[in-house]
Amino acid sequence: MKLDSKVCIVTGAASGIGKEIALTYAREGAKVVIADINLQAAQAVADSIAALGGTAMAVTMDVTREAEVDDAVAKVVAAYGGVDVLVSNAGVQIVHPVEEFPFAEWKKMLAIHLDGAFLTTKACLPHMKASGRGGSIIYMGSVHSKEASVLKSAYVTAKHGLIGLCKTVAKEGGAHGIRANVICPGFVRTPLVDKQIPEQAQALGLSEAEVIAKVMLKETVDGEFTTVQDVAEVALLFASFGSNALTGQSLVVSHGWFMQ
Ligand code: NAD
Repeated sequence: MKLDSKVCIVTGAASGIGKEIALTYAREGAKVVIADINLQAAQAVADSIAALGGTAMAVTMDVTREAEVDDAVAKVVAAYGGVDVLVSNAGVQIVHPVEEFPFAEWKKMLAIHLDGAFLTTKACLPHMKASGRGGSIIYMGSVHSKEASVLKSAYVTAKHGLIGLCKTVAKEGGAHGIRANVICPGFVRTPLVDKQIPEQAQALGLSEAEVIAKVMLKETVDGEFTTVQDVAEVALLFASFGSNALTGQSLVVSHGWFMQ
């Protein structure tokens, strides 16, 4: 198994992409921590992993609150003895044209995506260094870490920012065998995207089918959504890679929407 007994914290793992990463890591032998603002849903994911014979715990964590992040990481270290992998994945989407974007919503977006990545990284790094085993930190970016779309100024800004954080953590972590990488998915059918389809249809004056075909999947090579499994496979690669050769990178998994 690729992650035998590795302790892996996945934020936003109660739903969508994070949940699939948690299930994939558990199948590969990891001790998985389902960290989410929604404790009830996180516990359900942990229970489903346990029912399949895996090892998992749920912790409540609002990634924008430093004390909550620190408490949750301390709980994980007390229960499982350390942290080997952090997947900073929790995220939301809010769309408005720039001139109509409420400042409070802009700040909320940057807090969840950027403060959340920073705070969880800050809390996990000392444990990765202390273990002497190194570690892997994975940020959930997006094609919007590379590209822009109308209405998504806060999201695009935050997702671009994760690349800067990743490169810095890769440099600071290198001497300790701590790698940092970004996954950049295209559109994946999760609750986050299902919510956007009617919102974008209204904002752009299109039907929902047109939003999918003409906005979301227009630039892909085959008109297909990326799947949670596609993203989880990349998350497994970054978590289990054996050396610092693969660090400071961002990998786009988007059916060719963005090519670099
Ligand atoms: P989702 O809505 O299915 O899941 C997001 C999870 O994050 C939920 O369980 C939610 O409770 C949790 N969360 C929200 N705010 C939180 C907070 N403050 N603290 C802790 N947990 C919080 O969404 P998803 O599509 O699985 O998105 C996961 C990540 O993938 C996000 O960072 C998103 O930007 C990114 N992403 C998604 C897509 C896509 O098309 N779905 C594409 C590229 C990147």
